[in-house]
Amino acid sequence: MTDIETMDREALAALQLLRFKRAVTTALKTPFYKKRLQGVGIRSAEDLKTLEDIRKIPYTTKEDLREAYPYGLLAVDKDDVVRMHASSGTTGTPTVIYQTQHDLDRWTDLTARSLVAAGCGRSDVFQNMMTYGLFTGGLGLHYGAEKLGMLVIPASSGNTKRQFQLMKDFGTTVVHATPSYMLHMYNRIEEMGYSLNDFKLKKALVGAEPHSEEIRQKIEKLYTIDVYNSYGLSEMNGPSVAFECTEKKGMHLWEDSYYLEIVDKHSLEPVPDGETGELVLSILIRTATPILRYRTRDLTSIIPGKCACGRTSRRINRIVGRTDDMLIINGVNVFPSQIEEIIMKMTEVGTNYRIIVKKEGVLDKLIVQTEVGPSIFSDDARDINALKNRIAENLRASITINPAIELHEPGMLPVQQGKAIRVVDERRKPV
Ligand code: AMP
Ligand code: ZN
Repeated sequence: MTDIETMDREALAALQLLRFKRAVTTALKTPFYKKRLQGVGIRSAEDLKTLEDIRKIPYTTKEDLREAYPYGLLAVDKDDVVRMHASSGTTGTPTVIYQTQHDLDRWTDLTARSLVAAGCGRSDVFQNMMTYGLFTGGLGLHYGAEKLGMLVIPASSGNTKRQFQLMKDFGTTVVHATPSYMLHMYNRIEEMGYSLNDFKLKKALVGAEPHSEEIRQKIEKLYTIDVYNSYGLSEMNGPSVAFECTEKKGMHLWEDSYYLEIVDKHSLEPVPDGETGELVLSILIRTATPILRYRTRDLTSIIPGKCACGRTSRRINRIVGRTDDMLIINGVNVFPSQIEEIIMKMTEVGTNYRIIVKKEGVLDKLIVQTEVGPSIFSDDARDINALKNRIAENLRASITINPAIELHEPGMLPVQQGKAIRVVDERRKPV
């Protein structure tokens, strides 16, 4: 653990103000922020006297970043840039982030720090199953793991059989993957001729997509390993914005490097600690692409109190959803995470599920498809119906909507190589 991680809150605030000012100086070098900041009377970093003054700065949105494509947010000479990453999301122009060597070094420090927080060390063999490429998941943790002295296997995503072979032959102790891929792999172990005894796996670092505590526990139980949550987004570099320590009680958001705010998603005013709102982040350690007060659209809350590990950066709860993923079904608001939580608590429910919403006449219809153990299908049809009814009843009790339940055999529902697609909303017809 480095000193910066255990700094007292007062010293941390002073460091944040210093670094925020530096970030504003950098931002003023871009055409986009020059206009934005001057619009609210900020002409130099000296116009920020306290951390409170940060609230004068307007929020930055994904649309802003798209409009600045490709070079509108570049604050350094192009010759000083050594890397770019991009995230396309679901629509249109990608958002692009540039890094200088200095920026990459700071990010590497953070990823190494995160890996240490999750209990990893130089004797670990680290198999990185996140996609290497424009997506930040692969390269993101790679350099931190090397810096820490882990043996890094840059496996990238997909090709499950090869993943097993690498895990077995090189004695992988830590993997980095999406939680949905961890569950998918588990279903393939036997059919691909392996058994859990072939592996030395101790930990999985999972991230890139929302997942409930129930999913974490499922992966932990199936593999008999520890699972740690990793949060990040390309606009803030990628993985290692927030990471769980071995206490497993929320993710430390590295506040020396990111300025953290949680705001009400409608009023955009700050919410008290413990209340859920939209996460707003400013990156304090990047010189090529400054981003201030970025509305992540991710919903979370601050966990009040200190962590037993001694780190002083505050912790956020796992992401419960996004401001744009709320479903409105016949007028009732439902977050996909609520459905996941309920069904994954049921022991009969397997490792994959999907939520389908469509129109039936004038009404909306919610269909929940889940995989279940193969034995269910050899049972009496009455048992299958009883299970369907129980799942529907549990959901109705929580979300007040009566869903149709479809049961599928393991491995039958679609699996993505990258982030899982849990919701298919057929009401949103492509234009
Ligand atoms: P990208 O910029 O393409 O890497 O996507 C970043 C987004 O992935 C975030 O804004 C979150 O919505 C989601 N995400 C990343 N890590 C997690 C995590 N640990 N839990 C939930 N959602 C995550
Ligand atoms: Zn901790």
